[in-house]
Amino acid sequence: MPARTSSPSCGRRAAMSESLAQRAAALDAADELAGARKLFALDEAVYLDGNSLGALPAHVPDRVADVVNRQWGQLRIRSWTEGDWWSAPERIGDRIAPLVGAAPGQIVVGDSTSVNVFKAVVGAVRLNDDPARTDILVDATTFPTDGYIASSAARMTGRRIVPVDPADLTSALGPTTAAALVNHVDYRSGRLHDLPGLTAAVHEAGALAVWDLCHSAGALPVGLDAHGVDLAVGCTYKYLNGGPGSPAYLYVAERHQASFDSPLPGWTSHADPFAMTPGYEAADGSTRGRVGTPDILSMLALEAALEVWDGIAIETVRAKSLALTDFFLECVDAYVPAGRVTSLTPAEHASRGSQVALRCEDAPRVMETLTARGVVGDLRRPDVLRFGFTPLYVGFADTERAARVLAEVLAG
Ligand SMILES: *Cc1c(COP(=O)(O)O)cnc(C)c1O
Repeated sequence: MPARTSSPSCGRRAAMSESLAQRAAALDAADELAGARKLFALDEAVYLDGNSLGALPAHVPDRVADVVNRQWGQLRIRSWTEGDWWSAPERIGDRIAPLVGAAPGQIVVGDSTSVNVFKAVVGAVRLNDDPARTDILVDATTFPTDGYIASSAARMTGRRIVPVDPADLTSALGPTTAAALVNHVDYRSGRLHDLPGLTAAVHEAGALAVWDLCHSAGALPVGLDAHGVDLAVGCTYKYLNGGPGSPAYLYVAERHQASFDSPLPGWTSHADPFAMTPGYEAADGSTRGRVGTPDILSMLALEAALEVWDGIAIETVRAKSLALTDFFLECVDAYVPAGRVTSLTPAEHASRGSQVALRCEDAPRVMETLTARGVVGDLRRPDVLRFGFTPLYVGFADTERAARVLAEVLAG
């Protein structure tokens, strides 16, 4: 954020606060997504942690109660077929598909993101199985689990990990690259990486691109098919509001499905699982990415949660997300005395995800106090305050209040 030479006087700050609050009210009044907020169970707190755990859609508890009481309690085993439990991983994958720009039949839901990173990275190396391609490039600033799992995948496939800053990815690519695992949005800084450009560069080098969409799916358009992504993974409990630990997903582009060789070929990915044969024969399509019995309670909570997206275009969500993060940065700049926080979030829209990360001295105490005062973000140790903006249920007045309370906490 631009440096300011002096902090505003009290009188000026009060006047600014009034005008920013007025602007917020006008922006909320014009917001075409404002109506979505009532679909969620929220209280008066400003919830800016939907990039860690999305809020509960209000209709989900009744749906989960039906799954437990009727489908499990009364129908019992019949629900696997009559209730379509069996096909839930593919069905829910097809519901997520339009949000990430994928045609149906390429996404399967199940397992954690960590497990899907493993399937995708090993799968990518096996799809590009040339012994001269010894390297797996991994986003050096990645969420740790992706790096840990990719390292293990490299050891198992006889490759080596090459950590690279996504900004330097293009120059690191070459004839020894087998695959690159990159985050679409960096979990710490909120930086958005150039998925179309980097995917094209990876292909130019003869390698495969694996994208982690944890911090972009549900916040901005991804365009998996349009940009020729090979494989992708993502979680559903952040911007997709699936609930704590809800199952993740795996995207395998249709052109790779017939050759995709899963490192976890469990029985539910078999072409004929109920034949119970000793020999493995992979199913066609996205089903090949399945492993074992789907976690139905979580999965059907997720399926219900995804209904909040009915009729909502991801482009509209992106436009509001950028307006919210712009407005938050503006309010922080106006309210917070100069030098107290430094934004790690790129100013350019093309490089910004849906969160604002502020470096701040004494960040743990600041976040604790903020949370106690009803502004809930989170902390990335040692000194980063993270504020996630979820356009379906965060508004502009919330945003102004968050910045105002932050300034009060820092002044206090
Ligand atoms: C949230 C997140 C994960 C979470 O992985 P789990 O297996 O669900 O614990 C992984 N990678 C990234 C980039 C994330 O943001």
